[in-house]
Amino acid sequence: MKKIIIAIDGPAGSGKSTTAKIVAEKLGYIYIDTGAMYRAVTLEWLRSGLDMNDENLNKMMDNLSIDLKQSEWGQRTFLNHEDVSSEIRLPDVTKYVSPISAYSYVREKLVEQQRLMGKNGGVVMDGRDIGTVVFPQAELKIYLVASISARVQRRLKESIAKGINVSEYEVKGQIVDRDDYDSSRSNSPLRKADDATEIDTSDLTIEQQSNLIIDLATKIINK
Ligand code: C5P
Repeated sequence: MKKIIIAIDGPAGSGKSTTAKIVAEKLGYIYIDTGAMYRAVTLEWLRSGLDMNDENLNKMMDNLSIDLKQSEWGQRTFLNHEDVSSEIRLPDVTKYVSPISAYSYVREKLVEQQRLMGKNGGVVMDGRDIGTVVFPQAELKIYLVASISARVQRRLKESIAKGINVSEYEVKGQIVDRDDYDSSRSNSPLRKADDATEIDTSDLTIEQQSNLIIDLATKIINK
C-alpha cells in the first residue's frame, strides 16, 4: 500500500493537531507535531536565561536534541532526553515561540530533522510551513482555517481543561499576535501552498473535518 505524506498547515486554533492525530490513527500513520519541536527550542531558550540573538540561538541549536516519541498516551516531546510534553504548553512558551521560530538557524535545523522523520512517507505532519517548505512534494496538502471566534473558543476550552486561568480577551490577543508574527516573518511565513486544499473548520465537528481529509487521502492512496 502506498504510504503518502499528508501536510496540514494553518493558523493557531484552526484544529490542525486534533485533526492530524485522528487522521494518522485512522490511516495507521505517524503523527508529527512540528509545533512541539519549536516549543521545545523555546523552552530551552527560556531555561538558558540568554538574550535572544543569532549567536546564542545558533550555539543552542548545535547542542540540543529534540525527539518526538509515540506512546500509549499519544506523542511525547523530549528535550535533551527529558519529557517536556506538558511544559511546552505553558503560557510563557506560547508567548515566545513565534519570535524564536523566526530565526533562520532554528528553522534550518528543525526542518532538516522533520524531512528525515517524514522521508519514508506514512506521516501526517502539522505546522505552518509543511506544505510550502518542509515537504513541497507532499501528496496531500491541507490548509485549515477557522473564524477568529471559533479559534478563541477552542483555545479557551483547552486552557480551562488544563487548569490555565486566562480570559477570552487574553486568548484572542495571543492568537492574533502569534498569527501576525507567523505570517509576516521573512523565513517560511505561514501561508497556504498554491496546491493545498483549504478547509474552513469553523462550523465543522472534529469528525467531519477528519473524514474530509481521510477521504482525500484514501483517493490518493488507492489511485
Ligand atoms: O502548532 P503550535 O501552535 O504549537 O506552534 C507553535 C508555534 O511554533 C507557532 O505559532 C509558530 O510560531 C511555530 N511553528 C512554526 N513552524 C511550524 C510549526 C510551528 O514556525 N512548522
